[in-house]
Formats: sequence, C-alpha cells, structure tokens
Amino acid sequence: MAKMAPDQIAERLDAFETRCRQLGLPLTTQRHAVLRAVLEHHDHPTADQVLETVRDRVPGISRTTVYRALDTLVALGFVRRLHHAGPSARFDGQTHRHHHLICDKCHKVIDLQDESLDRLHISEVHAEGFQIEDFSVHFMGICRACRRSEPS
Ligand SMILES: [Zn+2]
Ligand SMILES: [Zn+2]
Repeated sequence: MAKMAPDQIAERLDAFETRCRQLGLPLTTQRHAVLRAVLEHHDHPTADQVLETVRDRVPGISRTTVYRALDTLVALGFVRRLHHAGPSARFDGQTHRHHHLICDKCHKVIDLQDESLDRLHISEVHAEGFQIEDFSVHFMGICRACRRSEPS
C-alpha cells in the first residue's frame, strides 16, 4: 500500500480504539501493536512479517496471539486479508477500494488505483442472484525489478 503518514496511522489507531470501546472489546497492547505494524508496513505483509515487527515492541508475544489479533482486525474491517497473493496470506491496512498487481516471481503486491475497475459492471452476476458486497481485482505478472534481472 502507499506509505501512510504518521498522523494517518495515529488516526486509524484512534478509530480502532473508539470501535473497541463501542463493542466492549478490550483494547489490548497486542491488538494495538498488530494494527500499528500492518499500517506501517507498506508492502502487504504476511502474518509472519507482522509477527517479526510486533516482537520488537511486545517481547514474548506469541504467533497465535498475532494471528488471532489479525483475524479480529480483519473481522472488524480495519485490515484486509488478500486471498490472491501467492503462497501465504497477505494483509493490507488500506481498506478503501483498490486493486493489486502481483508479481509471480517475488510475490510483491503493488497497489493499483483505477476508476474504471472500481466501476466494473458484470451482468452475469445478477443472473446468478448474487449480490456483490466488495471486490478487488488482481493482475498477475512480473514486476519491474524481476523483469530487469531476467536474462534476455
Ligand atoms: Zn517481482
Ligand atoms: Zn493493497
């Protein structure tokens, strides 16, 4: 995702705090640290990358705790889980509609903002009686860095 400014990160953390209070959910140091780590990573981190970052701040935090906190954050809509991003799930702190370019070689995930994709209208969906709540388009390919390193 695009780099988030520190005040943007602070804003999202505040919003999360408010939401926890509304829901009567304890705002644990762990959850707070996990959300902060996702927001600070600009590259759609895996759960293990989040764990690595959080470990520096919350010594002794377990992998299970981090995974559970990620699940909670996804369920509450503060973090998105990407289902299409290579071998392991990736997490995205950017929750507005956007799309992704995914490198087949290095599994890098690049954000893509495109209005024509946002307005996609697919008539087949109505025939299925399916109601789309949300979507994100992903394109698989080879990123610039990997193309450069390819023997030509
Ligand atoms: Zn690549
Ligand atoms: Zn993204």
